[in-house]
Amino acid sequence: MSFMRPLGNTGLTVSALGLGTVKIGRDKGVKYPSAFTIPDDPAVVDLIAQARDLGLNLIDTAPAYGRSEERLGQLLRDRQHWVIVTKVGEEFDNDSGDSHFDFSPEHVRTSVERSLKRLNTDYLDCVLVHSDGNDLDVLKLGTLDALNDLKKAGLIRATGMSTKTVNGGLATLKQADVAMVTYNLAHDEEVPVIDYAAAHNKGILIKKAFASGHLAQDIADPVQESLNRILGTPGVGSIIAGTINPQHLRENVEKARRACGE
Ligand code: NAP
Repeated sequence: MSFMRPLGNTGLTVSALGLGTVKIGRDKGVKYPSAFTIPDDPAVVDLIAQARDLGLNLIDTAPAYGRSEERLGQLLRDRQHWVIVTKVGEEFDNDSGDSHFDFSPEHVRTSVERSLKRLNTDYLDCVLVHSDGNDLDVLKLGTLDALNDLKKAGLIRATGMSTKTVNGGLATLKQADVAMVTYNLAHDEEVPVIDYAAAHNKGILIKKAFASGHLAQDIADPVQESLNRILGTPGVGSIIAGTINPQHLRENVEKARRACGE
């Protein structure tokens, strides 16, 4: 499939690689292999411009990523170009470094309104429930229903959940447009969710494609292998790859295009 592709039946067209933005907003309570410094404003502006020049149109953020949403609201130029994905349910406190979950429908509305303000926009392309891992329990709380109501009200174009279980991913795709699942060379347990999406024209976003930076040491080119495997799986819409390194971004896009046969 080509580098630009539909995200299920959402009507959104996305690049096969999207930009993950944890590292522009949060450096506490993350599990990357090495410490990093959150980039300053000019570096973030350059990274986003580079992503756009390389053909990316998808950017992923969340209230749980510290200052990520707020910084994108200030630094992302050309709103119309971007498909913005954000989330609800996990809250992160920058000062204490603590995170907690609130999946209540009331919080969904407050959180989406805050995301609209922080991201400096009047619509969100895709909002996902940020699951704590108990996917099926979360689905019983009405969180996704509340997001679907906001979709009907025109504030959101597509809804879904970032899941951690196969049953959670499948249940999400029966009630919403998109599931964000983990898939990498060391973790293929959630592929049945991708297969379901392929069969039912639903959207799939992939997280942790590079195992959050813990790339295999025994493979000559683990980045290319990862991209070939994931983008060769029918049903995958886009890989949300987190990087703040311009060389990595360029390499990832070149290799993703190669994996798409371009
Ligand atoms: P990832 O994309 O698998 O890995 C990111 C790590 O890989 C970074 O430390 C990055 O370091 C490194 N990396 C990227 N390209 C590389 C390359 N070519 N060579 C070597 N290292 C490379 O994992 P992630 O950041 O955990 O997840 C990606 C995105 O998914 C996040 O930013 C976020 O948007 C989303 N996410 C969502 C959830 C959720 O529950 N919804 C959970 C986790 C993540 P450099 O910065 O040095 O390139």
